[in-house]
Amino acid sequence: MRKIGTASLIPGEKTTGYLTVGSETDGTPIKLSLLTASGKEEGPTVWLIGCVHGDEYGGAASIIQFIKELDVQELKGTIVGLPVANPPSFKAWSRISPLDGVNLNRVFPGDPKGTFSLRLAHTLLETVSETADYVIDLHSGGIALHVPFFVIYKDGDSDAVNKSRWLAERMGTEIIWQAAGNDATQGTGTDYYTMHGIPSVTVEVGGGTVTKEHEKLFKASIHHALQALEMVPGQAPLQDSYTVYKKAEFMFAGEGGLFVPACEVGTILAKGDLIGSIMNLYGEVTEEIRSPFDHGFLAATGNLYWPTEPGRLIAEVYTS
Ligand SMILES: [Zn+2]
Repeated sequence: MRKIGTASLIPGEKTTGYLTVGSETDGTPIKLSLLTASGKEEGPTVWLIGCVHGDEYGGAASIIQFIKELDVQELKGTIVGLPVANPPSFKAWSRISPLDGVNLNRVFPGDPKGTFSLRLAHTLLETVSETADYVIDLHSGGIALHVPFFVIYKDGDSDAVNKSRWLAERMGTEIIWQAAGNDATQGTGTDYYTMHGIPSVTVEVGGGTVTKEHEKLFKASIHHALQALEMVPGQAPLQDSYTVYKKAEFMFAGEGGLFVPACEVGTILAKGDLIGSIMNLYGEVTEEIRSPFDHGFLAATGNLYWPTEPGRLIAEVYTS
């Protein structure tokens, strides 16, 4: 019988288990909860991963609910759900890990001799690479930002990249970010799963506060991907064309204060258009965040009056 961590993969059943990835200062093991569903018929193994960024809990909830609601009798192949890939970060409601200050999704392939996040990246890459045929990594704007619904895949020219694009086009969104290797997303898990030959996509939806609509979009994107892979019945939606962005700029606050957004996510910006400003505690504008691109797609922006400090991610703008 196949096993992942302590979870047995039993045809026709859903099972649970965990993978131990280290221990806390007091020796408490750090465990990744796993939920599996295996069809009676053969098919691909798809990993669903959430909370690589600990404050992006919409994906975690959607993985749990999706597997709960799934009719395993209809399934071909295997689903491995990992709702919370980064427990220390999840416990701290934080994008970075409280253990080492590291953003897990920038340090793949990790290091088995590094700090906790690097070891975690290494274990995730090893475990997923050994067992997955496809990876769907669920993200959002976290508690400080929000994003529209779109799918990301890593640019390149391998079979895994082509298959990632094929999957991205069948997940129900018309907005796709074809991420290049030299931008602000170096070191993501999906980059490295793809480099290891496993087609991988990142789904982005909403932020905190999570809504039922966010959950619906996350679950629908998973369902459509499984339809495309012929693991569940039905036809995945395929559109005639997609809006594909290839260039991205991540924008960070330079000043401390409160962020005042000037426009909604999804807005198409001209170069220099105001995205938002930082207001200090006397009510004065101390910084303006403006679009770096013409035809810039506002892919993430800070929530109203979100407290900032220098270096805090406050907006993302993509362009073709
Ligand atoms: Zn994220």
